[in-house]
Amino acid sequence: MGEKKFRADQIFAWLHVKKVSDFDLMSNISAQLRARLKEKFCLKSLFVVKKLESNRDNTVKYLYRLSDGNHIESVLMEYEHGNTVCVSTQVGCKMGCRFCASTIAGYKRDLLPSEILLQVYTAERESGRKIGGVVLMGIGEPLDNYDNVVAFLGQVSSKDGMDLSLRHVSLSTCGLVPKIYELSKLKLGLTLSVSLHAADNVSRSAIMPVNDRYDINELMKACRDYFAVTGRRISFEYALIDGHNDSREDAAKLAKLLGDFVCHVNIIPVNKIKERNYHSDRKSAQRFRGYLEELGINATVRRTLGADIDAACGQLRREYEI
Ligand code: SAH
Repeated sequence: MGEKKFRADQIFAWLHVKKVSDFDLMSNISAQLRARLKEKFCLKSLFVVKKLESNRDNTVKYLYRLSDGNHIESVLMEYEHGNTVCVSTQVGCKMGCRFCASTIAGYKRDLLPSEILLQVYTAERESGRKIGGVVLMGIGEPLDNYDNVVAFLGQVSSKDGMDLSLRHVSLSTCGLVPKIYELSKLKLGLTLSVSLHAADNVSRSAIMPVNDRYDINELMKACRDYFAVTGRRISFEYALIDGHNDSREDAAKLAKLLGDFVCHVNIIPVNKIKERNYHSDRKSAQRFRGYLEELGINATVRRTLGADIDAACGQLRREYEI
């Protein structure tokens, strides 16, 4: 636009440090330039349709409307070490995992890098709480929107912007193997979480169609490569479903599969969604953890946050889109 280079830095700081959503708040930019910016660009924002606050912990769930009328969800969670936001990466999801509410009505579109970033900025502004971590575990499959997710990671960690260390970011995938190889090459320092949920192909395929594309052997090979290339320990998610993947034999298969691989297992009692009849509870999860421990595998049971506000992904959006 023929402006001096430092103007770009000023505008970047307004957007990513002060996080304003109106050009007129950019007080060190002349009125004339602000008018030109308004003609050429539009600053998008997320409209907060609903905000649910847990009475049990400080979890807050936001339902946002995007500028095209679609809805997404984010969840703000409080841990001992600070506040973390769980963000969505797509509107809906193609992956079809049987237990997951986000995929039931299918996929609509990918989120733009700015739409992922705005979930972090808006949660911070709305709550007045400082955000110290991001997990890409909301609606959507992050590695199915690879380029935009990588652009988002660059923006959120920008030294001139929010400057969030990627050490405080976790990306969860259902196992898109080629993209795991691609991601490893970037050596971003984030934590890769892999939604394993079963230790043999028959029971994994029964709940996760992606397993028919990339089976457990291919997935584990990619995970071992990821660790070899990045040196970052992988976290395996295991959504426990009573009667499906919770037996002593299942634990033995999991222990055999992981063997001496440097990783962490996170057991999640499956969240009940109304469209499916899957259950489990903390007691089953603790029992399964015990089986794993006897076999020398360290595991944790994920803390349940926001249980009273349906804080798991995709449940709120569905009420609004139907
Ligand atoms: N698509 C990515 C990230 C989004 S889901 C992935 O599959 O990893 C984030 C995590 O929540 C995944 O481990 C997913 O399998 C899990 N999840 C989805 N629905 C769930 C439910 N009803 N109960 C427990 N975990 C669930």
